Amino acid sequence: MSIVDTESATHPLDDAAAKVVELGNRLAEAEPPIDLWDVADGLLAGAIHYWLYTRQPCEDPMCEDCAPLSSAELRVQELLRQVEQMAEESDYYHSPNDLTVGRA
Ligand SMILES: [Zn+2]
Repeated sequence: MSIVDTESATHPLDDAAAKVVELGNRLAEAEPPIDLWDVADGLLAGAIHYWLYTRQPCEDPMCEDCAPLSSAELRVQELLRQVEQMAEESDYYHSPNDLTVGRA
């Protein structure tokens, strides 16, 4: 029994995302039970760590490819932009239990 559906993965990005979800589901089945928020926070920490590792600029200070990510601040800006976009695209972005503001 999995908490999140991981069936439809083909693209490497989707495949990696699906594998992270599978890992989360596997960790969530631990005995004794563990807090799912701790599992999710740990997965997120690992993902951020890996993302930052892969976005290190090369040794050429004039490199155009690396220019948009050439400082810690620029990398965090890009990371947050992607996080916001991925969150909005998630099936779980909205919850039926959300407090809806301005409902008449
Ligand atoms: Zn470069």
